[in-house]
Amino acid sequence: MSSSEYPTDPQCIFCRIIAGKAPARVRYESGQVFAFDDINPHAPTHVLICPKAHYPTFMEAPAEVLATLNAEIKSIATHLGFAERGFRLQVNNGRESGQIVPHLHYHFLAGRSMHDHG
Ligand code: 5GP
Ligand code: ZN
Repeated sequence: MSSSEYPTDPQCIFCRIIAGKAPARVRYESGQVFAFDDINPHAPTHVLICPKAHYPTFMEAPAEVLATLNAEIKSIATHLGFAERGFRLQVNNGRESGQIVPHLHYHFLAGRSMHDHG
């Protein structure tokens, strides 16, 4: 899928990363999904997984986009080597959640025990 086929926002930092106009360590890319390392990691592996299309929040993303994202997160978990070991997925949605970047993204956190702390 090319960028002319889905909504983007030229002001959005994640749209700029997806378009290759801002730097990031890319971990995965497919037609609809893009994943890159978080600039401020909270775990040894902290990858942000997002649709290439710009939807500001989880609530605003169409169900089909969420379905694709979830399916591909399974592949990404395997690709990154955490399918068996485990990982945490976190989505901040909207005003009270702590969401800072208004482009839907899942935090994929892995590589340490998360039993005791966030
Ligand atoms: P939120 O609070 O919106 O769920 O999380 C946004 C995340 O994006 C934060 O963990 C933050 O470190 C990360 N982030 C913000 N700006 C950039 C950037 O320019 N590049 C990368 N790789 N990560 C970013
Ligand atoms: Zn965006």
